[in-house]
Amino acid sequence: MEKILLKNIDKPESHKIESYIKNGGYNAVREALKLGPDDIIQRVKDSGIRGRGGAGFPTGLKWSFIPKDPTLDKYLCCNADEGEPGTFKDRAIMDNDPHLLLEGMMITSYAIGAAVGYIYIRGEFEFGAKRLEAAIDEAYREGYLGKNIFGSEFSLDMYVHRGAGAYICGEETALLESLEGGRGQPRKKPPFPALAGLYGKPTVINNVETLACVPAIIEKGVEWFKSTGTEKSPGPKIFGVSGHVKKPGLYELPMGTTLRELIYEHCGGMRSDKPLKAVIPGGVSAPLLVPEDLDTTMDFEAMGAKGTMLGSGAVIVMEEGTCMVKVAYITNRFFSHESCGKCTPCREGTIWITKILKRLEEDRGRPGDIDLLEELCGNIFGRTFCPLGDGAVMALRGAITHFRDEFLNHAAHKGCTA
Ligand code: SF4
Repeated sequence: MEKILLKNIDKPESHKIESYIKNGGYNAVREALKLGPDDIIQRVKDSGIRGRGGAGFPTGLKWSFIPKDPTLDKYLCCNADEGEPGTFKDRAIMDNDPHLLLEGMMITSYAIGAAVGYIYIRGEFEFGAKRLEAAIDEAYREGYLGKNIFGSEFSLDMYVHRGAGAYICGEETALLESLEGGRGQPRKKPPFPALAGLYGKPTVINNVETLACVPAIIEKGVEWFKSTGTEKSPGPKIFGVSGHVKKPGLYELPMGTTLRELIYEHCGGMRSDKPLKAVIPGGVSAPLLVPEDLDTTMDFEAMGAKGTMLGSGAVIVMEEGTCMVKVAYITNRFFSHESCGKCTPCREGTIWITKILKRLEEDRGRPGDIDLLEELCGNIFGRTFCPLGDGAVMALRGAITHFRDEFLNHAAHKGCTA
């Protein structure tokens, strides 16, 4: 498969504008400016691309919700707050090929009528933020940003905004709150950002990888894009693999690649040749899969049918011997730490879950702890303000379902039987 997302990252000085242009960069935006905005939106719709940040919402449809009224200010926000444990794909694009993201943002801004674009980048990504700022400076210097780009009517200013390190700011409305200078907590929806987003204006929020796909859709065409991946989840996807494999890393592959191919062909198999025990397929919010699921394809539909999520495509592989109670404890400790505190079930519930998992993990469990965990999960799931609470519970429920005996043994002070 021809790479479009990671094609440049190993080239010398890949972050510089000269290198990007030498390798065909900024041709797509020139092409796009010859088209009407509606034509671009239609092409992106026809490509079938779905957001690569986790939710998988159809990108072209999202763009089409933006009002056409030319008197309204509109904004594009790039969600670069990549904070899901195990996820490191967007960082690779921003660090090594920032102009690919800028070009995708230019085309998107033109299509939706935005004159200002923000890149909301995770606070810890200092290197990436500097690379993006340098890339934006280069683009202004060449006249690719600013007024009347390429002699057209289209003008665009772009800014990098660094977050302060809160996982919840990856949720789109919390991102907007934070970008406006408020406390990073989710907003009530509706209204959705397409109608009332940044500063109350129509706003599109797209993930880095999604925006990085846009130049190829314009330049290579809709049919080319749809020729990769599955019918309902077309295009390429970056899978970030970590854990007990021989070759962890980023792999740009067609949507619909099986977990087996990803782990045993591309990643070289299990690190110590031990049997595989479990896989988290889409970041730690995604319920885990087990060896019987290895032939499941990595796309939105197949993962959903298995009761889990493709999420951001962050695959965490675990070998036999891994303690699932410890995995659950570490994961939930993360969620309770990152709970923004706005709603009680998540704020209080994730703390209680973490306390119980900690005592189980330390062999201080009590009879009935597993039932108590399940009851807490029931009191959180579907009752929280944003998906963080649901994500915490879904992952834990999955672990208990598949490895109940391990949890019971910990509760019965039998130690870790993993
Ligand atoms: Fe905040 Fe958690 Fe409620 Fe989301 S679910 S609003 S993160 S407290």
